[in-house]
Amino acid sequence: MSQAPNPPILLTPGPLTTSSRTRQAMLRDWGSWDGDFNEITTRLRQRLLDIANAAETHECVPMQGSGTFSVEAAVGTVVPRDGHVLVPSNGAYCQRLARICRTLGRKVTTIDYTEDQQVSPSDVDRALAADPSITHVALVHCETGAGVLNPLHEIAVVAAKHGRGLIVDAMSSFGALPIDAARTPFDAVVAASGKCLEGVPGMGFVIIRRSVLETCEGNSHSLALDLYDQWAYMRKTTQWRFTPPTHVVAALDEAVTQYLDEGGLPARGARYTRNCEALIEGLAAIGVRSFLSPDIQAPIIVTFHAPAHPNYEFKRFYAEVKKRGYILYPGKLTQVETFRVGCIGHFGEAGIPGAVAAIAETLEAMGIATAKASAGATAEV
Ligand SMILES: *Cc1c(COP(=O)(O)O)cnc(C)c1O
Repeated sequence: MSQAPNPPILLTPGPLTTSSRTRQAMLRDWGSWDGDFNEITTRLRQRLLDIANAAETHECVPMQGSGTFSVEAAVGTVVPRDGHVLVPSNGAYCQRLARICRTLGRKVTTIDYTEDQQVSPSDVDRALAADPSITHVALVHCETGAGVLNPLHEIAVVAAKHGRGLIVDAMSSFGALPIDAARTPFDAVVAASGKCLEGVPGMGFVIIRRSVLETCEGNSHSLALDLYDQWAYMRKTTQWRFTPPTHVVAALDEAVTQYLDEGGLPARGARYTRNCEALIEGLAAIGVRSFLSPDIQAPIIVTFHAPAHPNYEFKRFYAEVKKRGYILYPGKLTQVETFRVGCIGHFGEAGIPGAVAAIAETLEAMGIATAKASAGATAEV
């Protein structure tokens, strides 16, 4: 066994592996009223807007909590209480989005797909034409459940054509896959600190169209998750409304500095694409097949079929790969036995080949002979 990375490399879609520079940014305390900290918040909000080319038209409103808190805040703030949300659904995070709407008492209609299908803009077009009571479309950009990339731009154009709002859960794509506010019309894009920007988990943010946000006062069912209120307070004071996750904010600001030094979105997207290709090719060579068709695979997280062998058991597989220095992720599909491997995070070019070697060794240790024996048969996958 080669030297295992210690601590293990997280090949999970957030929390993920961060750089030591990012972690070091958390080694001091900040006062939430202090001008130095509020400068960080202001700079960070500006840089996040710039990543989406949205500074002219949109506001960045940060929110405490994990990514889901920001999704819930965006739905509650942007959709009026008598609104009606269309959720095209091809996986677990789409289902969560629909559930948020139901929980908040917003009427919701879904278009249901299987987990290996992309959302179709023409289905959304038909649904909007058929039901004028739909006020908003809520789309998951990269459905992290199976790893499908949904056609954001095309769906945004359809929603705009019908004069409906668009809320995008871009949690696992923001910063790595292009979202350009000048080209793609949206009301709100939601993302978080601990995904493709390679910060630590603990805060989300919503890029909201200014002209929409200005009309959102009083929509929210919630005091803590009201983005209008958070924005209004921040505009007045430069401070967060309630205790900010100071260390998380400082770490994200430092992570964004490294992101810009690396070359911003094109460089980040290219690095993840290289990881994704090396991963799929490397595992195909040992007989492990990826689940999605390559044309709808986002370079963020890859779902693999579990080896069809009586010795395979995820728990043991996970533990053996972890012993070799890599943390994988269980599958999230209901019908097929799978596991997932993330392509995102701060690990060097040796990270993916290392993970492929760890998986190969593990399959051998588990006596799953098909791994090598079928390599030739599946190498063209
Ligand atoms: C990670 C993620 C979320 C947020 O999940 P949390 O566990 O709340 O951070 C939401 N949507 C998608 C698509 C995600 O990948």
